[in-house]
Amino acid sequence: MKIDDLAGKAVLITGSSTGIGAAVARGFGAQGMRVAVHGNSNMEQAEQVAADVRAAGGEAVVLRADVRDATACTELVETACKAFGRLDILINNAGGLVRRSPIRDASDDLFDEVVGLNARSVFSCSRAALPFMERQNGGVIISTTSLAARNGGGGRSVLYAASKGFVSSFTRGLAKEVARFNIRVNAVAPGVIDKPDKSASTPAHQIDAALRMTPMRRQGNLEECVGAYLYLSSHALSSFVTGQVIEVNGGLLMP
Ligand code: NAD
Repeated sequence: MKIDDLAGKAVLITGSSTGIGAAVARGFGAQGMRVAVHGNSNMEQAEQVAADVRAAGGEAVVLRADVRDATACTELVETACKAFGRLDILINNAGGLVRRSPIRDASDDLFDEVVGLNARSVFSCSRAALPFMERQNGGVIISTTSLAARNGGGGRSVLYAASKGFVSSFTRGLAKEVARFNIRVNAVAPGVIDKPDKSASTPAHQIDAALRMTPMRRQGNLEECVGAYLYLSSHALSSFVTGQVIEVNGGLLMP
């Protein structure tokens, strides 16, 4: 399906060497977009995603940064802007659980790592993108939050859930702050989404418990997340939508 106003738009997707970010990058490539694919520890996979974007009809550059580092986030956004001469869309997608721990055993280092990865990176990349978007008189920021932001997480993942709570609140607040610059800010909240290394972060019994409560009785797949990002990126489809969190969770949690 072609969404005409997306062709040629410049987008940076953090964490797009794997998983949801890679699926979104490929989806944007199929729209003929110019995609900055970002990786950190998976640069070979980032190169493969870029090749897929080009094969689908888009343009791609590959950038590397550790998004836990605020300076690296600023440089990442600036490099993407330089590569394409503009930045129409920023997708703050890099993130993860890091590791599960009950709060009573959680160290300050774990707090810094989880909050740095999931929360501060969204702040740092968004802050860096705003001057470019203001100068262009418009832009779109979409962050990947989580179902965990609303239900507290799936067990021993309180820090992760709380850091995604930051992402959802940041989305609403920033949307109000920058609407006058024609910048729309939204988020996508995946539920239980299958991916190749899912069992490393989520034990099978937790997935089974979630599926029993999911009306659709299955996990989502990576491609099923892409439509929400396409919709929120397209002015033609969502020009009056800002400050929203779109839930992609098979009905597991309803507003
Ligand atoms: P994933 O592990 O494939 O993707 C995470 C990406 O973040 C990876 O590409 C990784 O390289 C990148 N990343 C991690 N640490 C980084 C760092 N320090 N610097 C730079 N990049 C870093 O898993 P995914 O499921 O595709 O996750 C994508 C987003 O979706 C994350 O924000 C995650 O929290 C969120 N999410 C996933 C699910 C799910 O069920 N899969 C559910 C809700 C939310």
